[in-house]
Order: sequence, then structure tokens, then C-alpha cells
Amino acid sequence: MNTPKKTISIIGGGASALMFACSIDTGKYDVTLYEKNKTLGRKFLVAGDGGLNLTHSENSDQFSKRYTPFDFLLPSLNHFSNIDFINWLESIGIQTFVGTSKRVFPKKGIKPIDVLNAIIAKITDNNVTIKTEFTWLGFKNKDLVFDNLGTKHLINSGLTVFALGGASWKITGSVGDWSNCFSEKDIIINPFYPSNCAYKINWDESILKLISGKPLKNSSFTCNNKTIKGEAVLTNFGIEGSGIYPLSPEIRAQLITNKLAKLYIDFKPDLSQVEILKRFESNFNLSMKDILSKRLNLTDVQISLIKNITTKDDYLNAEFLCLLIKSFPLELIDFADIDEAISTVGGISLNEINETFELNKLPNHYCLGEMLDFDAPTGGYLLQACFSMGKFLANNLNEFKQ
Ligand SMILES: Cc1cc2nc3c(=O)[nH]c(=O)nc-3n(C[C@H](O)[C@H](O)[C@H](O)COP(=O)(O)OP(=O)(O)OC[C@H]3O[C@@H](n4cnc5c(N)ncnc54)[C@H](O)[C@@H]3O)c2cc1C
Repeated sequence: MNTPKKTISIIGGGASALMFACSIDTGKYDVTLYEKNKTLGRKFLVAGDGGLNLTHSENSDQFSKRYTPFDFLLPSLNHFSNIDFINWLESIGIQTFVGTSKRVFPKKGIKPIDVLNAIIAKITDNNVTIKTEFTWLGFKNKDLVFDNLGTKHLINSGLTVFALGGASWKITGSVGDWSNCFSEKDIIINPFYPSNCAYKINWDESILKLISGKPLKNSSFTCNNKTIKGEAVLTNFGIEGSGIYPLSPEIRAQLITNKLAKLYIDFKPDLSQVEILKRFESNFNLSMKDILSKRLNLTDVQISLIKNITTKDDYLNAEFLCLLIKSFPLELIDFADIDEAISTVGGISLNEINETFELNKLPNHYCLGEMLDFDAPTGGYLLQACFSMGKFLANNLNEFKQ
């Protein structure tokens, strides 16, 4: 007589759950995915609004270093790398291309909803049952409690995979309201903080009209000895952009400890201080403004920022200006609202899971994706992390002897 298949409940229908559902062996397991929204993958679609950056094309050594902490994801990334992901996408009919930033996107003409639909078709083909409008409320003894349109359901599941997301963009369903269900089981939940977000600056009113909405291109940004080359946009609120997001762990640490983080901008990362000084010296017949704009190609925004914090005397001091050009200081005084952040850190402490994402205190219960306390910058690293974790766990369970 055949023994009945073990059941798996996947809770959440975001990136990590979708990959798990595509990859789990339904010959071995009876699998149901529960999602509280009417549809799957709402955050995946939001992520696609400005161009769906699925992963990054850099080599595996560099790739794995983007994560904080970098080591917990290594087994998943080694198991299912960016190249594996690109090939997998191709296998479900989604072709990709590498942009100039080395980020990987679906080929022109393929919309985020097309990618999502291809993934859902794969899940359906894999005979995973999908139940939407099922909200997980918590545990009751050994059962999972769900609400489905006002009706309570108790589900006894052999294995459970939680993929409940982080705590930003609540409209997508990822609200982080599951913390209590785990802390009741003595599982440590670290507080949520925004990551990949804007940071607040107390700008002088007088400078705002000159800089607000303006980009800082070809600059490098430093916080706590970590330097990132990239771009940022100055706004009424403060500063944000691809040059700032990778510094989120360093900025966050300073904001939490000191309620202030120090950011330094190098407006001319390709010129040394000596080279900059030479341009001042060889153009002493020009006005300072002309040296800055014509000989050093600083933008009006950069010049306004420099002027804003220099006295008249300092503005005529080449050495002093040189220091500001190479290391312009900004004080960040707060995070943007967590709901506006591209991702969050916090959630289930990594000390609570083993190498296959199983909760140490709740055997047979696994956690995947942004609900785990790790950090990654934008650039496709967040989605790759989720897909790699989903694939890694599914293949681990597929190898289990029942
Ligand atoms: C504006 C924006 C742009 C982004 N752009 C990119 C990008 O270009 N590249 C990139 O790599 N990443 C990007 N990201 C990040 C990326 O989308 C997320 O990191 C990723 O989607 C997280 O996947 P996840 O599976 O952990 O959770 P989510 O995708 O958040 O899914 C969690 C799911 O769980 C469901 N859920 C929650 N609680 C319950 C419950 N109690 N019961 C049942 N279901 C529940 C939610 O409704 C949700 O569908 C972006 C994010 C945002 C907000």
C-alpha cells in the first residue's frame, strides 16, 4: 500500500515562495500555497514598476559579497546562482538581457506580469494547489490557523514554509505583522528597519531651490570606510539613489547609535587631490567659479553645495576647496518612512535558523526571503536571494528520504 504523501504548506506568495513552489517535488509532497491577497506576487510586480531588475550579472565572488551578512546565503547562491536563474528563466520562456549597469532585466517587450504569469504557469504545471485570500493568523497547538473571507480553517501540515516578506510597501501584503506568532514560540525577531531608502537631511531652506530634484552623477559616497561609486538624487527630504543604497548597513548602524550618520561625497572620484590642486594652480587667472565649473567640470548643484558651507575666505582657498571636492560632508538625521523603503532588514534572526532555513525551535518549519534578517542592495540582489533560497530549500527537501 502506498504511504500518503507528506503535506507542505507554503505561506506567502512572493518571490521566494514562487520559486519554492516551482521546484518542490510534488511526486513526493502534497503542496498547497496560501496567500492572503487575491493574487500572487504583488511585490514582484511593484518591483517591476521601474524595470524588473531580476538579478545582476557580476561574477559569483563579487556577487556573494553584496549580502550582509555575506556568508549565510553562500550555500543557496552556490546551489542556484545568477547564471542558473537566467537559464531557468529562459527555460520558462523568459529571455533576459544585461543592461549597461550589468543588471539583468527581462528582454524588451516582456512585462513584469508576463514573468509572473510564466512562473505561476510553472507552479500550476507542478500540481501545487494555490489558495488565495487565505491569511495565516498563527498557530493553534500543532495546526496552522487561517482566515478565508471570515471563515477559520485549521490546517495540519507536515512541513511549513513561511515566506511572509519584509515590512515595507504594505499595500503589497508584506506588513511584518507575523512577528508575534513567532515570538510567542521564543523565536527572536529583530526590529524592522528600512533599507535601500532615502535618508533625511536638514537642508538650509536657502539651498533647497538650487538642489532639490537634482542628481549627483559620477560621484562616490562613503560612510564608515565603505565607498560606493554611483549616483544620488537630492530631494527636499534628503538624499537617495543607487550610490547610497549599498551603504544602508553602515548608515543604519550610525543612525541607530548616534541618531546621525556621516556621509562623505567625492565629486571627482577619478581625480586625485594633487590633480585637482594642479587645476587650481594652473588656472589662477580665472575666477574660482570658472575653475570649479570649467576646469573641474563641477555642476551648479555641486558648486551650490560647496558654497553653502564655506565662508568667503574659504571659498578662495584652493586647498580647502580641494578637500571639500574630495570629501563633501553631509549629515543624515533619519530614515525615510519604512513603508517607502525598497526593502527592510529585521525579522527572524539568522541565529534562529539552520543551514536549510529550518527554525531551530520549530522543526519542520522553514523561513525564506525578506522575512529573514539580512540586507542586500538594489541591483537584483534581493530577488536573486529570494529565488536562490526557494530553490535551495526545495531541492533539499526533494532529496529527503520519507
Ligand atoms: C518598490 C520596490 C522595488 C523593488 N525593486 C527590486 C528590483 O528591481 N530587484 C530586486 O531584486 N528586488 C527589488 N525589490 C525587492 C523585492 O521585490 C523583494 O525583496 C522580494 O519581492 C521579497 O520577496 P519575498 O518572497 O521575501 O516576500 P514578498 O514578495 O514580500 O511576498 C510575501 C507575501 O506573503 C504574503 N503574506 C504576508 N503575510 C501573510 C499572511 N499572514 N498570510 C498569508 N500570506 C501572507 C504577502 O501578501 C506577500 O504576497 C523591490 C521592492 C520594492 C518595494
